[in-house]
Amino acid sequence: DEAAEGFRLQDLPIRDDLRGRTPYGAPQLDVPYALNTNENPYAPSEELAAALSRGVAAVARGLNRYPDRDATRLRAALAAYLDHDLDVGEVWAANGSNEILQQILQVFGGAGRTAMGFEPSYSMHPIITEVTGTAWIGVPRGADFGIGLDAAKEAITRHRPDIVFLTSPNNPTGTALPLSVIREVLAVAPGMVVVDEAYAEFRREGTPSALSLLADHPRLIVTRTMSKAFAMAGARLGYLAANRAVVDALQLVRLPYHLSAVSQIVALTALEFAGELLGAVKQLRAERDTLVAWLREHGFSVADSDANFVMFGEFADRAAVWRGLLDHGVLIREVGPAGWLRVTVGTPEEMSAFRHALLQVTAESR
Ligand code: PMP
Repeated sequence: DEAAEGFRLQDLPIRDDLRGRTPYGAPQLDVPYALNTNENPYAPSEELAAALSRGVAAVARGLNRYPDRDATRLRAALAAYLDHDLDVGEVWAANGSNEILQQILQVFGGAGRTAMGFEPSYSMHPIITEVTGTAWIGVPRGADFGIGLDAAKEAITRHRPDIVFLTSPNNPTGTALPLSVIREVLAVAPGMVVVDEAYAEFRREGTPSALSLLADHPRLIVTRTMSKAFAMAGARLGYLAANRAVVDALQLVRLPYHLSAVSQIVALTALEFAGELLGAVKQLRAERDTLVAWLREHGFSVADSDANFVMFGEFADRAAVWRGLLDHGVLIREVGPAGWLRVTVGTPEEMSAFRHALLQVTAESR
């Protein structure tokens, strides 16, 4: 018999391609100012919290039954919210957009297939790609953190990826893509093009969404989430809009009843409060623009941001700045190109704590 004592992960017969991997996730530390995971700082209002409680109470007596497998009411509400003439059959929902991305990889990726993305970008794209047995091709972004059209077309034509990821606005840089770039990528890509619009609601005025391209592009998928603009990161609700054939294809891999009745009613209730929640988004966008201007005034380099976070630098020792901020109770994220850091836009009070700490920390190192 094997000894259970001291038996480790490495001793298990896990897949060879998972050996040596570590679980992904930002540190969840108990700090006064958590500005590291691009959450919305505004908790649900009393009214929304009360409506959520009523909604959950209403489904509670039916929890002996499986939920609506097709989440039809929720998908109809999401389609209405997106306001692009979409039908229920063109929208799909899951537990966070991470699960949406995983389902996309399960259908369109897999052994012998490839997915391409433009880096730096959201780290879960390569991770979900690789754990579904798909090979990852990372193509570097330009100095402005945008996607160079010539480089992109060249890479796509050479590698012929089954899936191309375009993150707009991009995490961690905050960069949004012009529709012209998405259109050109659609024209050369041989397979699916996924535009990850997790931060769509935070775009500056005049920056378009890829939703407007759906009508003419059956291989386009636009993914969204309620984690950011809707301040529902804890509820785990992501969704996508695409051609109905894509939604049909996803049914092949979705687990039956993947979206709990509680998740469905919580998301439906939050959607009823869209007006109130998007009001807070407007405040956050203004706070973001103020932060960008302040950082520039104080001599930092800042990437233009269409998201609820800002990437700034450049530091000879960014790890030291990150640690210095943490000593002041401010937790941000050490991601992006060497020398840069990313901070999530919070409340005015949180931003003031961040600014104060940053000046102190960088003064010490000057
Ligand atoms: N896409 C991007 C670009 C993200 O930054 C995130 C969250 N950090 C997600 C998707 C996943 O969000 P969720 O699973 O909470 O919907």
